[in-house]
Amino acid sequence: MRCDNCGRDATQINEMYQLCSRCYTVQYSTMNIDGKTMSIPEAFKLQLEKMGLNRKDGETVSDWSNRCQAYAKSTALGKAIP
Ligand SMILES: [Zn+2]
Repeated sequence: MRCDNCGRDATQINEMYQLCSRCYTVQYSTMNIDGKTMSIPEAFKLQLEKMGLNRKDGETVSDWSNRCQAYAKSTALGKAIP
């Protein structure tokens, strides 16, 4: 079966919908941060903003990705992984 939204393989299937994991997460999953319930994409965006890793105006996806990779490599975990 295919996702109703994007056509990827559906992993969440019931009588109401068939969705891939990504589309299900975007549409239905929530997280509580500091007493506020928000969608997973909102929670990720908030966390990236707190870390200074949100995408800047005019920044290409490639430049943003490189900046995030550089940050990850600067962490203790990133330094431990070759
Ligand atoms: Zn999908």
